[in-house]
Amino acid sequence: MDFAYDDQNIFAKILRGEIPNKTVYENDHALAFEDIAPQAPVHVLIIPKGAYVSLDHFARDASAEDQAGFMQAVAEVCRITDVGAGFRAIANTRTHGVQDVPHYHMHILGGRQLGRMLQG
Ligand code: AMP
Repeated sequence: MDFAYDDQNIFAKILRGEIPNKTVYENDHALAFEDIAPQAPVHVLIIPKGAYVSLDHFARDASAEDQAGFMQAVAEVCRITDVGAGFRAIANTRTHGVQDVPHYHMHILGGRQLGRMLQG
């Protein structure tokens, strides 16, 4: 699989500081920020700082340190946003997954009953 990365995508611009974001958490490996069009009371995006287009790209090529740092950010976002009652983690991927931004991101959605997935 060829994972060609376009460094003009909007999340790359956020990482370079060219576009503002509402940061929830940051470490050396990942940045978490509020989604600009939230679909639930909690809607946070977690992105790696490296240039990965998708979950499968990140899982294949990111270092163990980058992967551990990303998962630490997931844990911190869940703690900070207080989603103990439950949440959904989504990684939309490519065309069938309806991925709009080609920089790997995990959505964390919560704060209300979300219903069952894949209604469409
Ligand atoms: P996806 O369809 O999984 O690629 O989702 C991309 C998400 O990025 C959507 O939920 C958008 O609302 C969100 N988004 C787009 N631009 C921004 C931005 N500048 N800041 C925060 N979230 C954004």
